[in-house]
Amino acid sequence: MIQSLLIANRGEIACRVIRTARRLGIRTIAVYSDADADALHVREADEAVHIGPSPARESYLVGEKIIAAARATGAEAIHPGYGFLSENAEFAQAVIDAGLVWVGPDPASITAMGLKDAAKKLMAQAGVPVTPGYMGEEQAAIFLADEAAKIGYPVLIKAVAGGGGKGMRLVESEDEFADALASCKREAASSFGNDHVLIEKYILSPRHIEVQVFGDSHGNIVHLFERDCSLQRRHQKVIEEAPAPGMDAATRTALCTAAVRAAKAVDYVGAGTIEFIADGSEGLRADRIWFMEMNTRLQVEHPVTEAITGVDLVEWQLRVASGEPLPLAQHDLGIDGWAMEARLYAEDPAKGFLPSIGKLELLQFGDAPGGRIDTGVYEGAEVSPFYDPMIAKVIAWGDDREVARERLGEMLADSAVWPVRTNASFLVKALDHPDFVTGTVDTGLIGRDGEALAQTPAPSREALEAAAAALVPLYDPPGFRLNAAPARAAWFLLDGERVEIAVDGGSEAPVPSVLVTEQGQAWLLAHWRKEGTAGGAAGSGSILAPMPGKVIAVEVAQGDVVTKGQKLLTLEAMKMEHTLTAPFDGVVAELNTQAGAQVQVEALLARIEEHDA
Ligand code: ADP
Ligand code: ADP
Ligand code: MG
Repeated sequence: MIQSLLIANRGEIACRVIRTARRLGIRTIAVYSDADADALHVREADEAVHIGPSPARESYLVGEKIIAAARATGAEAIHPGYGFLSENAEFAQAVIDAGLVWVGPDPASITAMGLKDAAKKLMAQAGVPVTPGYMGEEQAAIFLADEAAKIGYPVLIKAVAGGGGKGMRLVESEDEFADALASCKREAASSFGNDHVLIEKYILSPRHIEVQVFGDSHGNIVHLFERDCSLQRRHQKVIEEAPAPGMDAATRTALCTAAVRAAKAVDYVGAGTIEFIADGSEGLRADRIWFMEMNTRLQVEHPVTEAITGVDLVEWQLRVASGEPLPLAQHDLGIDGWAMEARLYAEDPAKGFLPSIGKLELLQFGDAPGGRIDTGVYEGAEVSPFYDPMIAKVIAWGDDREVARERLGEMLADSAVWPVRTNASFLVKALDHPDFVTGTVDTGLIGRDGEALAQTPAPSREALEAAAAALVPLYDPPGFRLNAAPARAAWFLLDGERVEIAVDGGSEAPVPSVLVTEQGQAWLLAHWRKEGTAGGAAGSGSILAPMPGKVIAVEVAQGDVVTKGQKLLTLEAMKMEHTLTAPFDGVVAELNTQAGAQVQVEALLARIEEHDA
């Protein structure tokens, strides 16, 4: 067994690999960019090597720097994780040429499966059913349009070098073809440095079903059953599960046998995934499932397979890379229960899924029996703009699908992240979608119903009142009484919006704030202070920063006369602009900030006094 391992990756997958290596007694070496100096994977590894500036192009994607780091630290092997250099055959070869162990398949297998057209041709020769379409060399627009017509619309144009759901265009009819082809080729050239495309029949009612395969250097290849990744947004997986709902034993055998045949065709060694597209219009049928592509690495969603098989796939990778045979034979492998994974992202569904970067002031994950969280961040860490903004993979297991689904929903609903926004409530709603409940999701579900799922819920009145009660007694016990007639209403700022909540307490104490968390969402509730009320010097109003952020505009000067509702300041926080207005007619008695200033939550930015005060 190898004794030391450099992980050429970051985030949750680097942490995931480190965890298993540790357990096996292997010394771990992390690499990191400027932005990742304090990252979790750096903290968890035995050693860490700085490899350059934040952009991945200048650090995580520079093979020479990674190999140099391995040499400098005496690492014996390199694990590439997923993404970055994991499917780069030249890098794999360079690692081997440097006398290091490459934890992955032979570079020749990566090359064979690297381009979608070549992979499909190879698979067709091996007798694996492939998605019907054109996958040749000829790339002239008129010729390709002709091929598309022969295949029959709708068709999908795919960059042969594409990946990550990019470089694809769905074309519904002939008159859209030329424009779609041109834009697909442009994107392919700029993203993948290769503008070759293939044309595929667009499968209707598409379901994404993939099979985990594993080979060793002794000629053994097994499969570890299938995963269903049909819940997608823009061709990117959102929720994955294993096994696939509605998969009968005969279909499973046919599919998994085809996957093993595919892996054998390239003498596959290590962990790999064969992706298929299925026409799910009449359930899953063996004659309606076609090879789409092979991913020659560990997959993001590998934990669901681990959860139902009990296999640690990273351990298998390390054993196989060390020359050991596969720990289990095909007949030793079985399916136990059901597992589901959701990708928790730092993004704002209500804002077109824009990444939401910044410091994770609050980071809590829900828990459930058999639950698992794979994360690469910690509370206080930063979500940086340089990399994929995934916060964690949340994985639930249950005896059956319904238990796994409910547990995953609970884990997500109980998670709380702030002030960074997440897709948690979107995921909770997706899990409750009728099609998801019945296991009949096709890849278009989010495209059709996504808008309703993406709407950010407001906190419930109950949650707000409970939070308000947590604030009020601090300064005037006995405080809030739910069923008693409220003495008055208090104002609070809810993420910058003023809300009025019935409270029964005083108004003299320091002003704290609390986070309201519900349905995977977190809102800051801050007491809107009105200074001096209790002391009798009524008529002053504090303008507090509702959240940490940057003042981007100041519309008034000290001494200005303002009217109720007049714009005073604009604060930018969490990529959103919040306007702070005058609570009543008055004068700007204090102004403690200026444009460009970074402010903490509850900082007293300005104070308005009534005219006659
Ligand atoms: P990538 O390399 O980006 O992962 P894939 O070929 O795996 O590209 O396709 C990504 C996704 O696009 C699939 O998971 C599926 O949702 C959709 N897709 C791909 N090919 C087809 C097809 N022929 N018909 C319908 N949907 C498809
Ligand atoms: P009182 O019975 O002492 O007049 P009020 O509830 O009317 O108490 O509160 C005094 C003043 O403070 C009122 O103008 C009220 O609107 C205002 N006020 C109440 N709660 C808040 C709050 N959270 N932030 C700022 N002003 C508040
Ligand atoms: Mg794919």
